[in-house]
Amino acid sequence: MKRLEKKVVLVTGGSLGIGREGCRKLAQEGATVAITDIADEEGQELKQEIENEGGKAAYWHLDVSDEDAVQKVFSRVNEKFGSIDVLVNNAGISGVNKPTHEIELDEWQKVIAINVNGVFLCTKHVIPFMKKNGKGNIINMSSIYGIISAPDIPPYHASKGAVRLMTKTDAIQYAKDNIRVNSIHPGFIWTPLVRAMGEASEVGVEQFRKNLDALHPIGHIGEPEDIAWGIVFLASEESKFMTGTELVIDGGYTCK
Ligand code: NAP
Repeated sequence: MKRLEKKVVLVTGGSLGIGREGCRKLAQEGATVAITDIADEEGQELKQEIENEGGKAAYWHLDVSDEDAVQKVFSRVNEKFGSIDVLVNNAGISGVNKPTHEIELDEWQKVIAINVNGVFLCTKHVIPFMKKNGKGNIINMSSIYGIISAPDIPPYHASKGAVRLMTKTDAIQYAKDNIRVNSIHPGFIWTPLVRAMGEASEVGVEQFRKNLDALHPIGHIGEPEDIAWGIVFLASEESKFMTGTELVIDGGYTCK
């Protein structure tokens, strides 16, 4: 029996980067995967790729900051697959890179709308299905920047700190309902999000990556699969005694 046989896992921001590799590994371990994202072409392509490898998946367009859409898509996933056993709140953006006193309110709110409100809305609308099922499992993608900070992207740090504590509140709140809630805290992972930061930097992509490598005691930044395996572990029964935990996967970044 595979590690995630008979589990339906809904992943937000599943078309690219960490979410994409998470969907692949979840399917390889036997899960039925509901891929959701705003990047439709890449999401449909991933669905096809998973099916070609013998896995089960479907794709839905979902902007996690849109409450009506969250409600509708979650109902459709539940209707199609019969349950939502695991929710992976992965969708997130890095947002503007300016010092706090130069940030416009709408730039701040854009990051909060996706990174914080998105986690809130998806959690809010998955809980009724999980309560009805008598069990559930939520995995929130925070960051090392939900634990420590750096002198850049202020709304991102605020958002990931919020996700860290939202996780712990919900872990306590829903433990009686047999619903676990844990957070993952990646170090830098080479994904389209981080590549775009490199492209926007003054030093160029190659040097940007080298600079990031040097921040991790292990000597290099991570790959999406390093986080995907953490998602698989938390989604599986191997982690059944874990709730409210911060799973740090960061090549030693936060040891310093
Ligand atoms: P990514 O490469 O940008 O992939 C994220 C996916 O989410 C993209 O397909 C993106 O679509 C989608 N998305 C953006 N806004 C959305 C919305 N409103 N609703 C639904 N989907 C949306 O990012 P990643 O690096 O894989 O990051 C995934 C998660 O890990 C994020 O929460 C991020 O903060 C966290 N994280 C990443 C790192 C890292 O180093 N990569 C480190 C720590 C934590 P578009 O491409 O069309 O925008």
